[in-house]
Amino acid sequence: TKGKGKIPATLIPGDGIGPEITEAVVQILDALGSPFAWDRQLGGMAAAKSEGDPAPKALLDSIARNKLALKGPLTTPVGGGFRSINVRLRETFGLYANMRPVRTLVPGGRYEDIDIVLFRENLEGLYVAWEHYVAIDDDPRAVAVSSGINTRAGSRRIAEHAFEWAVRHGRKKVTIVHKANVLKALTGLFLETARDVASRYEKKIAFDDRIVDACAMQLVLNPQQFDVIVTTNLFGDILSDQLAGLVGGLGMAPGANIGPDAAIFEAVHGSAPDIAGKGIANPLALLLAAGLMLEHVGKEDLSKRINKAVDVVLNKDLVRTRDLGGKATTADFARAMIKRLK
Ligand code: NAD
Repeated sequence: TKGKGKIPATLIPGDGIGPEITEAVVQILDALGSPFAWDRQLGGMAAAKSEGDPAPKALLDSIARNKLALKGPLTTPVGGGFRSINVRLRETFGLYANMRPVRTLVPGGRYEDIDIVLFRENLEGLYVAWEHYVAIDDDPRAVAVSSGINTRAGSRRIAEHAFEWAVRHGRKKVTIVHKANVLKALTGLFLETARDVASRYEKKIAFDDRIVDACAMQLVLNPQQFDVIVTTNLFGDILSDQLAGLVGGLGMAPGANIGPDAAIFEAVHGSAPDIAGKGIANPLALLLAAGLMLEHVGKEDLSKRINKAVDVVLNKDLVRTRDLGGKATTADFARAMIKRLK
């Protein structure tokens, strides 16, 4: 889909169900009149096998050039093997903000009327995995140590990003989530800095804060009280999967990794090896990620059309994949979307 006047963007089909859901999303975007000219690149296991490197230079160059990418899930071996490519991409391109919105799309689930956007700091905190072991006597791994680092500059940057986004999108409240009662330095600094930022936005938007454990419970008891959440890396990692669970699972949750030099859009879920190659994966999360990408380049009209068509396909045509209790295949869903978009 190369074309004049189009926006060049890197497309990484990825591993497992990645190529299947990417294909469906590209077809749906084509039906919409996609503004993107795709620059297809290998990454993850697919690239490790054929290029000997899970993040080949061609991929990194492509993202550096286009500053915009849509990424399928990449398989990371547990334990040994290579480091998470997702973390590497975030670090390479300074993608400090991870936005994960969830909305109730299918009524009759556990919760109605959920519309929460979580902003997760993406480069610091306990998630950086600066780890080592300490030996005692003849046990070389008697003690495990992990160092988490939060900086004032990093905390300010993510808080400003979240508040700015919330105000621009007419949201009502931002909740700062932390564990400053126990991790007084690590997450105390985050809370203090985020409150500072909040006070500058006082006239424009309300804010409060929650300790992460209480927040997890409140998300189960009364999730509708939350609007926009901003939090540190590890808490954001955990809470965003919880949020996905509130609205029907990982198949519904998109994510955006945003930095000053590039933005990478992806589904929150992984490569789902258990269902790969069967043609039954739900392409919705990656499609919603493409919607966020359209908003990012100023094509809100196109993103709204996707959201409307998704609502019709799920709730009127009742075309739903198996993870949503339906029988549709990936291709059925793509066909139904294309019919509604044309
Ligand atoms: P997963 O998200 O791949 O799968 C968890 C469960 O959800 C599985 O039962 C799977 O079938 C189901 N599922 C996920 N996406 C689905 C979809 N679109 N439609 C229907 N069902 C779906 O998590 P995992 O099994 O823990 O991880 C598998 C691999 O993916 C690992 O190598 C992991 O490192 C990687 N991973 C990558 C990313 C990413 O690239 N952003 C994110 C998470 C995990």
